[in-house]
Order: sequence, then structure tokens, then C-alpha cells
Amino acid sequence: MTRTPPNSFQQLEKLGEGTYATVFKGRNSQTGELVALKEIALDTEEGTPSTAIREISLMKELHHENILSLHDVIHAENKLMLVFEYMDKDLKRYMDTHGQLEPHVIKSFVYQLLRGVAYCHDNRILHRDLKPQNLLVNTKGQLKLADFGLARAFGIPVNTFSNEVVTLWYRAPDVLLGSRSYSTSIDIWSIGCIVAEMYMGRSLFPGSNNEDQLQKIFKIMGTPCEGSWPGVSRLPEYRADFPLYAAQDLKGLVPRIDATGLDLMKRMLRLQPERRISAAEALRHAWFDDIV
Ligand code: AMP
Repeated sequence: MTRTPPNSFQQLEKLGEGTYATVFKGRNSQTGELVALKEIALDTEEGTPSTAIREISLMKELHHENILSLHDVIHAENKLMLVFEYMDKDLKRYMDTHGQLEPHVIKSFVYQLLRGVAYCHDNRILHRDLKPQNLLVNTKGQLKLADFGLARAFGIPVNTFSNEVVTLWYRAPDVLLGSRSYSTSIDIWSIGCIVAEMYMGRSLFPGSNNEDQLQKIFKIMGTPCEGSWPGVSRLPEYRADFPLYAAQDLKGLVPRIDATGLDLMKRMLRLQPERRISAAEALRHAWFDDIV
């Protein structure tokens, strides 16, 4: 943690409000470099959140071209200010402005997303809240992951900073069923949802609450049972009276995807977490044979 006073950054316009913080565009007063300033209000009642600061400071050690660089962590009064490299927009806004994405753009974004996630998983860091809003892109076609490690530092809140409900659309079925044994597979599920969304132009599973989210997943992927997912009935939120749905073919929902891409997406969207492909394996999948 540095002791640089926060005023060595000129604060420009507000870029957005995330789950944990308000984000402003900023300029380094000494170098003129553009940055994103993420202000996290600290709960004054609880004193200094030393674990959160330690977790976040660890993120400064992550260096990868598909991970947003964290330049600095500044602890001032009752807030934390994280200084990140500046990017043009997040993937949600990119999809909103570009309409349907070209297949080669989708493949490049998925590859970069997997590279960033594989690097973090190698370093035993989970994201836990991957979604288009925290994937950032720039005009060079680069994609970088933001907010890695923040969920671990602060937990996943129920509301965003602007009091909207945190989206459940990318949350894995094991997490929705109350599993506490979080592993790297929860990030892979989110990536599968994001891949589908890039082709569809809308969310694959747009649930409005925990129960509705599970229902939307089961309607498409089939309702799990002990036969298809050993141990599922012991998860806290499992109910024996879940409506029984048969699995549908994802090809019908994501018609623009080619057969090899469909195979990879299906491996990411397996209900049972242990059966999901890992990020490292996914990078070796035949779908990426033609990536340069
Ligand atoms: P987040 O808390 O990371 O979800 O950030 C909220 C919003 O602020 C994002 O959806 C982006 O639109 C914007 N934002 C976050 N980080 C950056 C950055 N490094 N460069 C540009 N915009 C950002």
C-alpha cells in the first residue's frame, strides 16, 4: 500500500457503479496517464478491513495481459481507492453498441477470457462474479478481467452500490443450490453463460431470484437428479419437488455457434461442477486451433 495522497490523481467523469464501488475516470497528475479510480466506501463501524486490504494488495502481484492492472491501493479515511489501468468500455456496453458480434470477435474474446481466468486459477484466485459488466475491452480488441479477488475480499453482496440487486444470471447451479465448496468450476459456468450471450445478444438464463434462476437453468439443461449428479440431493437448497424438465439441445438456443464451439460451451455448462472443463483444458480445445 502506498502513502501517495489521493489528490495526485485528477478525478474526471464517473464511469459507472459496480458491485463494490463507484468508478471514476482519472488522470495521473504527474504522468498524464489515464486511469480508472475505484472508490470503495468502508464500513466505519468495523474499523480497518485489514483482510480486505491484504487480499487486494495481493492482486497487485497479478500480471497478465488479460487481467486489468492494479497500479495502486490507497487507503484514505473511510475509503479505499484502487487505481487501475483505463479501458474503453465493458463488454455489456460493447454488446449493446455493436449488436450481434462477429464469430471471430467472439472466439477472440472467449480465448482472452479463458487465458485471464486460467492465470488466476493457477494462482489459486477465483473470480466468483464473472459477468459482461466486469470484462473490459479496448479499441485494440483486447479483453481484460476486472474485479478479480474482490468477491473474496468483500464477499458477494446482495445489492450493488446503487442498490440494484446483484445479477444471478451467471451464477453456477451448485452455488444457487447452496454449495459452499466453491471451486474454479464456478467461474467456468459463468464463462459458458457469457459465450452463449455473445451469440444470442441476450442473457441465456435471466433469472429474477434464486428460485427463478434455478428454474430457468433446469428448463434448458434438465433438472438434475442423483443419477445425473451424485450428491445433488444433499445440497441445502435442493428440493425433491423441483419440476422435472428434460435437457434441451443448446444448439436450438444458440444457432449461430459452430459444432466445435458448441461442444466447448456444453462442457462449460455442465450442471455437476466436477464435470465442467477447466480453463487450462478449454484453452487446448479444438475450437481454438485456428486462433492466431
Ligand atoms: P465494476 O465495479 O468493475 O463493475 O465497474 C463498474 C463500471 O465502471 C464498469 O461496468 C465499467 O463500465 C466502468 N469501469 C470499471 N473499471 C474500468 C476501467 N478500468 N476502465 C474504464 N471503465 C471502467
